[in-house]
Amino acid sequence: MTAIHLENLSKSFGAFTALKGMNLDIADGEFVALLGPSGCGKSTTMNMISGLLEPSEGSIRFGERDMRGVPMGRRGVGFVFQNYAIFTHMSVYDNLAYGLKATGVAKAERDRRVKDMAEFLHLTPMLNKPSAGLSVNILQRLAIGRSAIMEPAIFLLDEPLSNVDAAFRAVMRTELKHLQRQFRQTMVYVTHDQLEAMTMADRIAVMDHGKLLQVGTPIDVYNNPSNVFVAGFLGSPGMNLLKGMIVRTDLGMRADLGDAGLSAPLSSAQEKSVSDGQAIVYGFRPEHCQLTGDDGIRLPVTFVERIGARTILHLGNKGASIKGVFDNDVVARSGEIVTLSIDHANIRLFDAGSGDAIVEAR
Ligand code: ATP
Repeated sequence: MTAIHLENLSKSFGAFTALKGMNLDIADGEFVALLGPSGCGKSTTMNMISGLLEPSEGSIRFGERDMRGVPMGRRGVGFVFQNYAIFTHMSVYDNLAYGLKATGVAKAERDRRVKDMAEFLHLTPMLNKPSAGLSVNILQRLAIGRSAIMEPAIFLLDEPLSNVDAAFRAVMRTELKHLQRQFRQTMVYVTHDQLEAMTMADRIAVMDHGKLLQVGTPIDVYNNPSNVFVAGFLGSPGMNLLKGMIVRTDLGMRADLGDAGLSAPLSSAQEKSVSDGQAIVYGFRPEHCQLTGDDGIRLPVTFVERIGARTILHLGNKGASIKGVFDNDVVARSGEIVTLSIDHANIRLFDAGSGDAIVEAR
């Protein structure tokens, strides 16, 4: 079992910087998800951890050991990609046994481990079948098993579920988490799917444009995003983000949301952390608002999205686009004007210039 330390890690391809100054410590046995949109540098980071790519700057250590110049085969990492690497001319059994055989594990031990892994990943019924012709779902499960069976100290998975269907993805999220709990590997998991990161990881590292923006437990990053990008990227739908201005009034500092038609009070901690005339972004999660008959913002419903257990109302006028998540029996129709009240205790303020969260004074 091994901790991973990334220090000032950077990677450039010619004049283009794909990753800039990343610092991240991943504890022994921890499950960390690298989360971000396409092109943000997740795979570049993974490829450097695995040894496929050399960093342009900075260092990677596994425990105390500097990985500079250490080839992939000597790093003790298992790597599973989006496109499963399976020998299709071999049976499921032989695919699982391949790495063990290549490293000289005795036949009886090999057989035990293959059968255990097959059982764990629900592959037992097809152990003797040829891999060719198996579904994408099964092949990806097999690819994960083939790597996991080697019990690598560090297990790297780069979007392993993006080619499988939605129902299977949900099953695999649970299975991968179990797998990691069982073997206690240090796991780094690349995904652009915030739900995958939220449900599986001990901590999430959110990236954008080659930079690490925030690292924390899923719930902490969700509740306290460090900037507007993280606020909007996490959650489905993401946080509502409305442009506004701080104004000093007789009632104290308020957030004037102009076109949204709202002058919102601030908590006393927030009041102390902003200044009159400051341009801000006013954020609140879609689940932190209610429809009320009285006090609130009056907005037209532009779309009613029923997603089973919940209903998402899209609300808006020319200055504000808001999504609210409600019980599925909410009564609302497109075109109707509703009154929305926001839970003030859950407001997050961001500086409009930098996009950074405004840290509340104590
Ligand atoms: P995706 O999920 O789309 O792969 P990602 O976050 O994993 O996204 P990377 O693959 O790390 O992103 O790529 C980061 C940036 O670096 C992208 O703009 C990509 O085009 C660029 N890049 C990656 N590899 C190379 C390369 N070998 N040469 C030039 N540019 C590259």
